[in-house]
Amino acid sequence: MNKFDYMAKYGYEQLIYFYDKETGLKGVTCIHDTTLGPALGGTRLWNYATEDEAVEDVLRLARGMTYKNAVAGLNIGGGKTVLIGDADKVKSEAYWRAFGRYVQSLNGRYITAEDVNTSPDDMEYVAMETNYIVGLTKTSGDPSPFTALGVYWGMRASCLEKFGSNDLKGRTVLVQGVGHVGYNLVKLLVNDGAKVYVSDIKQEKLDKVASDFPVTIVPTTDIFAFEYEIFAPCAMGAVVNDQTIPQFKFKIICGAANNVLKEERHGAELEKRGILYAPDYVINAGGVINVYQEILGYDPNEAKRKVEKIYGKVLDVFKIAKENNITPAKAADRLAEERIRVIRNIRGNYIKR
Ligand code: NAD
Repeated sequence: MNKFDYMAKYGYEQLIYFYDKETGLKGVTCIHDTTLGPALGGTRLWNYATEDEAVEDVLRLARGMTYKNAVAGLNIGGGKTVLIGDADKVKSEAYWRAFGRYVQSLNGRYITAEDVNTSPDDMEYVAMETNYIVGLTKTSGDPSPFTALGVYWGMRASCLEKFGSNDLKGRTVLVQGVGHVGYNLVKLLVNDGAKVYVSDIKQEKLDKVASDFPVTIVPTTDIFAFEYEIFAPCAMGAVVNDQTIPQFKFKIICGAANNVLKEERHGAELEKRGILYAPDYVINAGGVINVYQEILGYDPNEAKRKVEKIYGKVLDVFKIAKENNITPAKAADRLAEERIRVIRNIRGNYIKR
């Protein structure tokens, strides 16, 4: 991959390598677009096989954050950091503090947070060296209940679109993965009187959710074998692919997992089968909306109020999709791009401050 060509094609601003010889800290930050504000996106620690693999991941993830933050209506841009290393070996106080100092050196163009393999304890060390960090335990805490709340509102909007009513009472929903987000989603669905089926590869997660709520457990191998109306993937991405699509009998797909469609064309395949897809990054933005609130002064009620707006965003996405005869996934991208474009334009005139 020619990195400058790729950056030019998708409008990237910056790709920064960093290294600390004392601790072995090694990583790459990508700042995709800061039209709306500083780039916000978590730090992922992963044992990438090659440097190119790490760079491809950070480029893809940073751009994804620009779109997610833009559609969510936040005044922040998109960025991401990947650290290259074995999570079981590299971590130490010095490692994280070296990282914090590097983040500080970017002078607020990039704000970091937790992501895969970075824990609240790790981030406490990072916060010792930088002001540009959000999502700490002592402030906004666990984002998962907010993410689940966003998915819940996305699901209600999807029901309105598909069934003409946003009421979840009596609706049949399968939640794949009852971890941090899935568990909280089940709670909200049961509370509204939905009939909930759950599936997970970990027995202890199933035991917990089944002891707390009236749910039906479905073996992971059977999740597409019976009929239900809504599929909520809350485990891993790429669940919509050439192998799974022919098995789908549900009417709506709406879950927290990132990159639900394996490829873009799978969005059109869902459309052909009359299955409504609530775009992943629109409905799973509750977590980032919650941490963003820290920048403004953390207030959980205000964060909740903003997360509930996902309902209206999802309806906007469906409207754009219908009006332009495009898939909801494409409509979401269009909504993000349009918001960035108009905000860039309104800032074009000179105003003395
Ligand atoms: P988690 O690790 O807490 O939960 C995932 C659950 O899925 C686990 O219980 C795991 O056992 C289960 N699982 C894994 N493979 C499975 C399979 N094949 N079949 C059934 N279950 C399986 O993760 P989470 O924080 O709840 O996040 C869930 C998804 O939502 C992830 O894709 C994540 O990227 C995405 N997401 C999470 C947040 C957040 O706030 N946590 C925000 C945005 C997006």
